Amino acid sequence: DFDFAARVERVEPSATLAISNLANELEAEGIDVVDLSVGEPDFDTPANIKEAAKASLDAGDTSYTSSNGVPELREAIAAKLQADGIDCTADNVIVTPGGKQALYEIFHTLIDQGDEVALLDPAWVSYEAQAKMAGADLARVDLSPYGFQLEPALDDLAETVSDDTELLVVNSPSNPTGAVYSDAALEGVRDLAVDHDITVISDEMYQDITYGVEPTSLATFEGMEDRTITVNGFSKAYAMTGWRLGYFCAPEDFVSQAGKIQSHSVSCAVNFVQHAGIEAIRNTDDAVVEMRDAFRERRDMLADLFADHGVDVPVGDGAFYMMLPVDDDDQAWCEGAIEDAHVATVPGSAFGTPGYARISYAASQERLREGVERLADHDYI
Ligand code: PLP
Repeated sequence: DFDFAARVERVEPSATLAISNLANELEAEGIDVVDLSVGEPDFDTPANIKEAAKASLDAGDTSYTSSNGVPELREAIAAKLQADGIDCTADNVIVTPGGKQALYEIFHTLIDQGDEVALLDPAWVSYEAQAKMAGADLARVDLSPYGFQLEPALDDLAETVSDDTELLVVNSPSNPTGAVYSDAALEGVRDLAVDHDITVISDEMYQDITYGVEPTSLATFEGMEDRTITVNGFSKAYAMTGWRLGYFCAPEDFVSQAGKIQSHSVSCAVNFVQHAGIEAIRNTDDAVVEMRDAFRERRDMLADLFADHGVDVPVGDGAFYMMLPVDDDDQAWCEGAIEDAHVATVPGSAFGTPGYARISYAASQERLREGVERLADHDYI
């Protein structure tokens, strides 16, 4: 028998696994499943980015790169962050194989056994797992009583964090709620972070997927410059999930510590993928806007469809998810919805918030319509 490490035994297998197993079983039986559980754009990567990757491959960019990333890409990222108002240079940036790896490195750079990490629930599934693998104890604030907005929950956050809190994770626009936090909410976070000397991860993965609002980067608030680690990536904005390209921006002393984890684990992100990333950042604005407009139409249509069935779903101004209120036993609801109605969703409890199902609208309008009809026909809404 293996004597498994506590760090893996503390982590639950993904609650989404049961759903995708069920979906796979049904599909193997030839049943058409409307999959609203996906966490990735349903678009292909824009052609200019693919061309850049091919050109890079042909040019022989197949060796290791410097561990923190190709200098030109780090410079392009720094220029983008500067345009957002963040004070940084290429030396503050580490390019990683996906934002998930960036987060993994950040947790492991900062967290000692027993350190407290605070999450805003519902929170993206991997924060809890990664924090626990790094040895953290979790403190959680539930945003569901406040329509998933942070500003009205600031008092609760103030009661939850303390001088013992090492790290707080803020994710705006949010997966799974789509909420984009107001500047007033972020100022509240800043005040608490400064008071209690808390480092804050600002996961801005969905920054480019917003509808009529411009999210402000947390690192631009006075007092946050030296305590914010900004995480972002290429997966969602540029429909590049399988390319595995992300990054984070942090003060230089943080970068030199985290760089040890990067260099001793993954070495670097893929060379020609990094070159494609330069093209993505510099020349892909139109495609990003087109995808964003499509997501916005779907969001509005989906919210209207639920409203037609008398279900009021809190709709956020970003990302491509919404949280549908369901039974208290959301796991059973999701399993039932897939078995009876053949519609796959993710239980809210996977994000720390039972009583909801996460619906992804990274699917065509036709499939979204079909999904809602099936849920209604089988009395799930
Ligand atoms: N952060 C959030 C909130 C996400 O939803 C995801 C992906 O689902 C990630 C980070 C990681 O994305 P990637 O590793 O593809 O860059």
